[in-house]
Amino acid sequence: MKIAVYPGSFDPVTSGHLNIIRRAANIFDKLIVCVMVNAGKNPMFSLDERVSLIKRVTADIPNVEVDSSGDLLAEYAKEKGSCVIIKGLRAGSDFENEFQMAMINRKINPNLDTMFLTAEHQYMYMSSSVVKELGKYQADLSDFLPEEIIEDVKKRVSTIY
Ligand code: ADP
Repeated sequence: MKIAVYPGSFDPVTSGHLNIIRRAANIFDKLIVCVMVNAGKNPMFSLDERVSLIKRVTADIPNVEVDSSGDLLAEYAKEKGSCVIIKGLRAGSDFENEFQMAMINRKINPNLDTMFLTAEHQYMYMSSSVVKELGKYQADLSDFLPEEIIEDVKKRVSTIY
């Protein structure tokens, strides 16, 4: 069974993330979407909330599992029997950083490959931070977020700003 891991902060999961999830789930037998603890970021949603938002928007994809982890990604993948990390590549700005992480992960776990899926053109410039920023100004988020979670995000943004 070919298992891939799609890691990220997903704060919150966007339509760009969901597009990558659907495409990767079509390629692999099982896709584990893993919310990673990132000490450098100050998330709007807790780890558990992010997991539950992803579960809601992926409920119709049977081979997707949602998890969270504070471990090193390369170790996590090994534990789960996965040899592929999925990453979404947006504009050029993602490249440098992702390239470096792919090399480091491969050094830690030589059986681990990173597979990049290019962002769909309409999601190319979309990020969780842009969504949060737009939410502050009560902008229409329907082009950016899966329908099921728009209200949750609007509510949370309004308590913060
Ligand atoms: P961000 O980089 O916006 O904080 P994450 O850490 O949640 O987001 O990203 C997880 C993964 O999803 C990364 O590989 C990132 O490049 C990818 N990704 C994020 N937004 C998009 C998008 N709009 N289209 C395609 N891939 C994306």
